[in-house]
Amino acid sequence: PQALQPKPAWIRVRIPTGEKFQAVRTLLREEKLHTVCEEAACPNIGECFSGGTATFMILGDRCTRRCPFCDVGHGLPDPVDPQEPQRLARSIRRLGLRFVVVTSVDRDDLRDGGAGHFVACIQAIRAASPATRVEILVPDFRGRLETALELLSQAPPQVFNHNLETVPRLYPSVRPGADYGHSLHLLRSFKALHPSVATKSGLMLGLGETLEEVRAVMADLRAHGVEMLTLGQYLQPSLHHLPVTHYWAPEVFEQLGEDARRLGFSQVASGPLVRSSYHAESQATGAPLT
Ligand code: SF4
Ligand code: SF4
Repeated sequence: PQALQPKPAWIRVRIPTGEKFQAVRTLLREEKLHTVCEEAACPNIGECFSGGTATFMILGDRCTRRCPFCDVGHGLPDPVDPQEPQRLARSIRRLGLRFVVVTSVDRDDLRDGGAGHFVACIQAIRAASPATRVEILVPDFRGRLETALELLSQAPPQVFNHNLETVPRLYPSVRPGADYGHSLHLLRSFKALHPSVATKSGLMLGLGETLEEVRAVMADLRAHGVEMLTLGQYLQPSLHHLPVTHYWAPEVFEQLGEDARRLGFSQVASGPLVRSSYHAESQATGAPLT
């Protein structure tokens, strides 16, 4: 059988260890919470969990869409759990997290795309841990944009993140069901309503894009008011997912990061292991990224 191609040396998979890591895992099980870290088999999980950071996935672990790069399960999602915001808020308080990322699968089955549940989660987190800052990483709310924006205005986060994931030419194969122009429009519309909230987006590289195309996307993001950027290497979760077409060298990521700063992004994280929520706290506070 065909084997996964070997990864270059700079993609080091770290074996998660440590007491803190286990404590976070146990608590997540108890509270029936999902994390992207685990679902997407993120290579940074050891580092993030040991540091007490996680990206929480609300609204279940089954997505109504089926993007061929994504390791999240697909199918009919669970009904919305009205207790989830409380469990999430309680866990964040128990773990003492100062900065959290909250994201969800795509819920095309819900009239508001899940925006109301995001708001309930933000409000519960703020009530339980007033000092904790929240980044939300949202789906595209296609077909329900107005409703979603109106709901999100009830409790805007500190950072509003929506990933473009790849260059427009590759959307049909990488993000079927999504639309490049719509995603840019979502980012610009949110910024127009909440000028003081930082907006953020990200791309995975290694799916067949050219560097010129990546630079063009960065320029589009700036033209739509986006201030924060993440660029990371796509890794194929299994043989059933899109193959990696290219492992860009760390120097290429560095160069792209410099290009992004020149374009005016205020915070840029660019490197093979960078993920949308990697070092999200230091990105949001402007602390130097290590
Ligand atoms: Fe989780 Fe993000 Fe860290 Fe990956 S980079 S382990 S998804 S918090
Ligand atoms: Fe994965 Fe998001 Fe695509 Fe759903 S919409 S399959 S969660 S990338």
